[in-house]
Amino acid sequence: MTPLAFVDTETTHLDAELGDAWEVAVIVRDFDDNEPRDTEYAWQIRPNLATADPEALKIGGYLERFAVPVHAEAAWTGYEDGPVLPMTRNEVTGAILNVLGGAVLIGSNPGFDDRFLRKLLGPGSAQWHYRPVDIATLAAGRKLGMTEMVRRTGAKPLPSDEVPFPFSSRALSRWTGVEPPGPGVAHTALGDARWARDVFDAVTQGVTQ
Ligand SMILES: [Mg+2]
Repeated sequence: MTPLAFVDTETTHLDAELGDAWEVAVIVRDFDDNEPRDTEYAWQIRPNLATADPEALKIGGYLERFAVPVHAEAAWTGYEDGPVLPMTRNEVTGAILNVLGGAVLIGSNPGFDDRFLRKLLGPGSAQWHYRPVDIATLAAGRKLGMTEMVRRTGAKPLPSDEVPFPFSSRALSRWTGVEPPGPGVAHTALGDARWARDVFDAVTQGVTQ
């Protein structure tokens, strides 16, 4: 089975032409022996702050959470209560390329992460599948399908069955039964990647396995 990669990045700007990803989390789900197995990864990379948007830095908690030691370009930050391991930028980009190779990216608005990852990893380096999966769109599709089933029974859907545009990832997440991450967890790359995984699992309920 094609591996799945739940991804999230925290960035210095909303526009990838201006900003950089400074934190990347990936949860890879592979299917060795047909058994799904999730492995979590998280890194931080020292960004160029010259073009940073202070608001974007604030959202991701850059000032409080940037943990790369002063002498290092990047670091492994995947041990939540453990050590931060200094790495070179090349080591981190190589590791990210390796874990994303051949995978389907899944995230909350993963086109955003795709743009920043391409910028981080360089031209031609994106070896993941070209069609990322957005958890909000996935949840909206399930909700629209269920509303259609209600209609087919001759019943009238409730106002709460409507799916207004633009999609709200948080509202749709709650609809699937997954409480979105709260303060301190939301807008951390690993927290958001776990959220994407949980919504994906709630929507697909094992049908992909
Ligand atoms: Mg995030």
